Amino acid sequence: MKSHTRREFIKTTAMAAASVSFAGALAARARAANPDRKIGFALAGLGSLSTHQIAPALQKTKYCRLTGIVTGHPAKAEHWKAQYVIPDKNIYNYDNMGKMADNPDIDVVYIVTPNGLHAEHGIKAAKAGKHVLCEKPMEVSVEKCQQLIDACKKARRQLAIGYRLHFEPTNLECVRLVRQKVFGGLKVINAGFGFRMGDPTQWRLKRALAGGGPLMDVGIYALQATRYLTGEEPVLVSGVETRTDPVKFAEVEESLAWQMKFPSGVIANCSTTYNAEGMDYYAAYADRGWFQLHPAYNYDGNRGTRSDGQTIQFPDIDQFAAEMDDFAQCILNNQPTKVPGEEGLRDVKIMMAIYEAARTGKTVSLA
Ligand code: NAD
Repeated sequence: MKSHTRREFIKTTAMAAASVSFAGALAARARAANPDRKIGFALAGLGSLSTHQIAPALQKTKYCRLTGIVTGHPAKAEHWKAQYVIPDKNIYNYDNMGKMADNPDIDVVYIVTPNGLHAEHGIKAAKAGKHVLCEKPMEVSVEKCQQLIDACKKARRQLAIGYRLHFEPTNLECVRLVRQKVFGGLKVINAGFGFRMGDPTQWRLKRALAGGGPLMDVGIYALQATRYLTGEEPVLVSGVETRTDPVKFAEVEESLAWQMKFPSGVIANCSTTYNAEGMDYYAAYADRGWFQLHPAYNYDGNRGTRSDGQTIQFPDIDQFAAEMDDFAQCILNNQPTKVPGEEGLRDVKIMMAIYEAARTGKTVSLA
C-alpha cells in the first residue's frame, strides 16, 4: 500500500471507528436514560410461523414486545388485536405500512411473508425508518437480496436474517467441536433436511413466491450448517435434482442432492426433499473422530452423538426469542448483528449456483 493511500486508509478507519464509538456512546446514554426500554416489533405476515412460533416467542423475550402487525386480512387483524392487545393505530396493511414512519411504538418490522415478497416488504419497512428482521431465505434472487441490503443501508437501519440456529446450543456446540479441533481437522460433512409436502396448492410450490423448492425452504439449513461448521465459503458446487411427481412439482424441484468443496479441502454431501419424511441431520467427520446431530434443525429436541461416546444435548431454548432478543440488543447498543443481510445474500448466491449446476450438469465455481 502506498503511504498516502495508507494514510487515507488510517484516516478513514479512524473516522469510521470514531463514528461507531460516537453512535455507541449515544446508544449507551439513551439506555441509561431509559434502562427498561423494550424494542417494539411489528410482524408482517400473520401465517403459520408468526402465529405458532414468533408471537408466542415475543412474550418470552427480555428486550422486545409485540407492538404492531401488518396483514392483508382484516379478520386476522381483529383476532390478533384482541389476543395481543394491539391498538388500532399499530395495525397496518401492505399498502399503508409506509405510514409507520410516524409511529414510535414500532422499531423493527419482522418480515414473515412468502420468500418472494421479503424485499418488497422489507424495503417498505426500511423506508419508513424501521429496522428489519427478515425470515429465511432472504429472497428469491441475488438482486432482490442486494436491493434489501441497499435500502436498509440507505435508511441507516439494521438488517438481520432469521437464522435461529445461530443461537441454538447444540449447533453452537458442534461449531465449538470444529473450532477447537476436538476430533482434529474436519474433512467431510454429510447434511440433509427435508419433509413430505402436503397441500399441493400452497405458495411453497410456486416458483414466483418460493424461488425454488425444498432447497430454498429447508435445504438452506443444511447449507448453513456446512458454512457455520467450516467457517468457510464453498468454492465449487455440483448438483442433481429429481421430480418423481411432475404434476405436484411442476414449478420447483422435488428433491435435490448437491456437493460442495471448501477452500481447506472439506467436502460436503447435502440433500433436501419435499417428498420423504425424517431427513433432519448432519454428520461431520474429522481426522480422529466424528459427531452428528439428528435431529439437527428443529425448534427443540436437537441432539447428537460423538465418536468418543459422549452425547450432544442441551436444555431447549426458544430459538425465536433468543434471535429477537439478540437483534434488540444490537439495536439498543448499536452493535452489528451476527446474522446480517450479507449472510442471507451469501446463501442465496450459493443456492443459485446449486440450481445452475443441477440444470447444466456442470460443476459451478464460486471462487
Ligand atoms: P404461511 O403461508 O403460513 O404465512 C405467510 C403469510 O404471508 C400469510 O399470513 C399470508 O397471508 C401472507 N401473505 C402476504 N402476501 C401474500 C401473498 N401474496 N401470497 C401468499 N401469502 C401472502 O408461511 P410461513 O410458514 O409462515 O412462512 C413465512 C416465511 O417464514 C417464509 O419465508 C418461510 O421460509 C419462513 N419460515 C421460517 C421458519 C424458521 O424456522 N425460521 C419456519 C417456517 C417458515
